[in-house]
Amino acid sequence: MAKEQGGGQQGGNVVALPTECPAEGCGKKPKRSAFCEEHFVWFKEGLINRKGERPKDFDKKYMAFQMRQKKKAA
Ligand SMILES: [Zn+2]
Repeated sequence: MAKEQGGGQQGGNVVALPTECPAEGCGKKPKRSAFCEEHFVWFKEGLINRKGERPKDFDKKYMAFQMRQKKKAA
């Protein structure tokens, strides 16, 4: 009957609202969904998953994300 966490499976039923943004090293108050403003964007862009975890190719994605941001800002 032991339930283990983790293991690549998507989904699960997280009901409790987190009090902190789940992104690594953040800890800000959630503003949108469970994330702070900044990490909500990350989540939308696929940089982190619902739990705030980074994918293996985070660096690549983050670089592409920054490029897009620069284009927007320019
Ligand atoms: Zn955050």
